[in-house]
Amino acid sequence: MSGRHDKGVNVQVLLRCRPFSDDELRNNAPHVVTCNDQQREVAVSQNIAGKQIDRVFTFDKVFGPKAHQKDLYEQAVIPIVNEVLEGFNCTIFAYGQTGTGKTYTMEGDSKRSKSGPKGELPSGAGVIPRAVKQIFDTLEHQNAEYSVKVTFLELYNEEITDLLAPEEISRVVEEKQKKLLPLMEDGKGGVLVKGLEEEIVTSASEIFTLLERGSAKRKTAETLLNKQSSRSHSLFSITIHIKEANPEGEELIKCGKLNLVDLAGSENISRSGAREGRAREAGEINKSLLTLGRVITALVEHLGHIPYRDSKLTRLLRDSLGGRTKTCIIATVSPAVHCLEETLSTLDYAHRAKNIRNKPEVNQKMMKTTLIKDLYGEIERLKAEVYATREKNGVYIPKERYYQEELERKSMADRIEQMEAKIESQQEQFKELQTNYNARVQECSDLTDKLDLTQNNLDQTSKELSNAQEEVKRCQYAIKERDFIIREQKKAENALANQACVLRSKLERSHKDNAALFMKIARGDKMNAGNRSVVNKFESELKQDVKSLCNTVTSSMFQQNEQLQCIEKFCHTFTNLNDKAMIDLKKKIGGSRALYVSHIEELQNVVLLHKANSNANLEEVKSLVSSNADSAEELLAEEAAKGLSIFNELQASLSTQQGEMAHFARELRQEHSKSDAQKLIAEVTSLVSNHICRQKEMVDARLANIRETAAGGKKVLDQQVSSFDRITSSAKRKWQDFSTQAENDAKENADFAAAKHCRFESVLQQSVDATESALNHSKMTHDSVIEMGKQHLTTVDTLIRSALDSNDHHDREISCLRATAKDDALKTNEDLSKHTDSTSEQERKVISAIQETTKSHVKSLESLREDHATQSSLIEQKAHDTFHNKYTDYEPSGNTPKRNNTDVPSKGSIESLRAMPMESLSEEFRENNSFESFTGNESKICSTPRPPLAQIN
Ligand code: ADP
Ligand code: MG
Repeated sequence: MSGRHDKGVNVQVLLRCRPFSDDELRNNAPHVVTCNDQQREVAVSQNIAGKQIDRVFTFDKVFGPKAHQKDLYEQAVIPIVNEVLEGFNCTIFAYGQTGTGKTYTMEGDSKRSKSGPKGELPSGAGVIPRAVKQIFDTLEHQNAEYSVKVTFLELYNEEITDLLAPEEISRVVEEKQKKLLPLMEDGKGGVLVKGLEEEIVTSASEIFTLLERGSAKRKTAETLLNKQSSRSHSLFSITIHIKEANPEGEELIKCGKLNLVDLAGSENISRSGAREGRAREAGEINKSLLTLGRVITALVEHLGHIPYRDSKLTRLLRDSLGGRTKTCIIATVSPAVHCLEETLSTLDYAHRAKNIRNKPEVNQKMMKTTLIKDLYGEIERLKAEVYATREKNGVYIPKERYYQEELERKSMADRIEQMEAKIESQQEQFKELQTNYNARVQECSDLTDKLDLTQNNLDQTSKELSNAQEEVKRCQYAIKERDFIIREQKKAENALANQACVLRSKLERSHKDNAALFMKIARGDKMNAGNRSVVNKFESELKQDVKSLCNTVTSSMFQQNEQLQCIEKFCHTFTNLNDKAMIDLKKKIGGSRALYVSHIEELQNVVLLHKANSNANLEEVKSLVSSNADSAEELLAEEAAKGLSIFNELQASLSTQQGEMAHFARELRQEHSKSDAQKLIAEVTSLVSNHICRQKEMVDARLANIRETAAGGKKVLDQQVSSFDRITSSAKRKWQDFSTQAENDAKENADFAAAKHCRFESVLQQSVDATESALNHSKMTHDSVIEMGKQHLTTVDTLIRSALDSNDHHDREISCLRATAKDDALKTNEDLSKHTDSTSEQERKVISAIQETTKSHVKSLESLREDHATQSSLIEQKAHDTFHNKYTDYEPSGNTPKRNNTDVPSKGSIESLRAMPMESLSEEFRENNSFESFTGNESKICSTPRPPLAQIN
């Protein structure tokens, strides 16, 4: 067996909460149970004294109202069935209040339990049909050789009924009574129900028929027996034998058993539990359920005795509780509030059952041969029975007696059973008591030994006690004596300490005064020394200062004397230089006066010369102007004559021209051909232009002549010429315009040319007129030029005359000014020489005064030197006298006491001189004198007493 099985496996506990029934829904019943399938928790809300209290239980699995039959089976039962197929024995209990779905869970909804199409189970099918189907499916799938047997029994009021018994047999028995089966030990530690029908099934569908039969039987009983089912347990068992071959080739039979228990309503347990006494009185209403509870309690609390034998149910299922079977409990509850009390008790019960531990073991595989042997035995037994029945060679008795005997036998068997159970429990109790008794006897002997030892000790101790009491008395006396001495010494110590404190404070005060006085003396000494050093320093400094002062005075006197000599020298040289400068100055004044006179004379001569010259020049100008005017007049007259002749010539040529023109016009008029006219016009044009050029050249030559000869009338003439030029050029331009026009016209029309010719003639006439007017104009210009020349002459004449007059006037003024300048120069010379004389006199006086002053200064310097010497020696003497004779230092007498720095003892140190407190003293004593080494005769006093003040400083 593996370790897992040694430790055991906890009983698996599942919880299922059914949905609200139609009635409950109609009444709108509040729900108090909340399932959390995932967390495997069930919460129950309670309202206790107005307070909402939630209780939460945790289980191995939780199925809420929404969980289907299929869910529960797949999650919880499939593994169990698999283990059964592996060879384990497994049990599933359904526990809960009536009406919470135990039967629904185990068997399923009976109305719809007919198998569905193709062997599918209806959704309402419970654990039993599903398990059977799984078993057959698996076995068929494995292709194994197997046999499946089922039993189905009911346990009511401690009576077992076979729910699979054939109808006929039960009918043979009394109508009301079912066939009751006894429970027997099988001799291997288990029990078996004698005469229980074991139905061998070969397919799942067969099981359904059987189940229906059993349930129907139970149902009938229910109606007959007044709700019996709520108080009865039903046990459906499936036993499987599977053939296997081991490696040696031997054929083995593997055996597994599945028990499916639909328990009575749990409300019976609590009711009977609450009033156990009366429950018993009322007959064994639900002994089995009660015992189951007790067995669970005993298992959970690990009590020594487990009352399996107290009920048939626990006897039947002994192995499922704390045995080798794997067990699962499905607790069912209702969500409704009116079931709250029962729900809580169910939850508590189920929760407690979780702690039961089983040690599952695989059933030993049987050899096929053994099994066959067993079966043969069984066959033999049955054969004998059959034979006896057939041969009627058994015992025959009347029916009534048989029944009575049977009853008696049954009651006897029960009593025997009960007695057996009692004996077993009593034996167990006895064993327990025996062990207890043995333990007590052992304890008793131990205690007697101890008592003897204690008695001996007591005797000895009593003796010691009397001795000790004597000793104690003596000690107490000594202690009293000691106490008295200590008290007196304490008093003295206190007085001494007080006195010491007073003295200490006085000493402290005088110490302070002393220190202050010494400090004062030290300050005085320090000040004296300081004063002496100041005086010495001052004396030396004074000496040095006086010396340096003397030196400064002598050096300054020497310098002053030197400076005074210098001043005297300077004065001498200054007078000499001054005299020389005076003489030179006088000489220079005389020379400058002579020079001045000569310069004046020269100036006079120059003036005269200048006058004569200007007069002659003026005369010459006058004559030149008059001659110039005459020659201009002559030239103009000449030019006028020439101009007139030229004009006449011009007029004559113009008139010939006019004549030619007229002649030409006539010729032109006669000729009409276009080309001739053109030629003629070209000729005319060239002729005219030639003529104009010639005339212009002539006029230009004449005009150039006139320009050269007549400077005065040049401008006028230029203007004339330019105007004439303008006229001729305009004439020329007009002629050109005309000729071009005439040319154009001649090209178009020869007649038009004639008209043009007329116009040309008129233009010629115009030019003749213009020439005439130009002549007139030149005549007029000539006259005005002559007039202007005359005017000019007269103006020049008057100007020359006024210049001569002003010359004379200047001459006179210059001679007059020369005389006054001569006089002024003389006078100024004399003033200057006088002034220089008086200045040199004053300088001489000042110099003599300076010399006087320097002399007196020299004298006063001499007297100062003498005074200063006497004064400084006097100061030195006085200082010496003051610092060395009058100023005195402090002389130490040597009588002043030396400073003494003794410390004042502190208050604490005085206090510390007191004896230590009793406790610490005794501690010290105990440290130095251990109790073990104490003999009692000698009294060792602690360490030597401390000398006063020795430890303080
Ligand atoms: P018990 O056997 O515990 O006395 P039953 O199995 O007879 O209770 O159930 C009582 C009623 O409740 C039945 O009509 C049943 O169909 C119904 N019922 C119980 N549990 C469920 C469930 N999980 N789902 C649907 N109906 C249920
Ligand atoms: Mg039921």
